Amino acid sequence: MTDAEYVSHFRGMPETYAPKRRDYPLSNLNDGRRLVRVRCSYYKRAHCYFPDDLIQIFGDVDVDSLACRMKCENGKDHGRLDVEAFSPTGREAVGLRIRRLVAIKINRVPVWSDG
Ligand SMILES: [Zn+2]
Repeated sequence: MTDAEYVSHFRGMPETYAPKRRDYPLSNLNDGRRLVRVRCSYYKRAHCYFPDDLIQIFGDVDVDSLACRMKCENGKDHGRLDVEAFSPTGREAVGLRIRRLVAIKINRVPVWSDG
């Protein structure tokens, strides 16, 4: 293996470990003033959330995994949501509307037994 071959081989390595590389739990965002922005590409609108609120619902999961866990409330067929962590700075923070968790409703599902 020449030096050039070795370098290209080495550079290719991180792709192999892609799932591990992006592991980034929500609790990591609490050290700063970071928020989570969730955008529906179909509905073309975004909502901002506090990581703590999302932890109450989903647990301390990987930020990227929210793309699959969350569903657009305007249509279940809107597909994967675009999720990113960000820290609002200066102008962006002014007037930024952040969704707060008001309550978690539990669906009551009847289970029947024909006896
Ligand atoms: Zn949508």
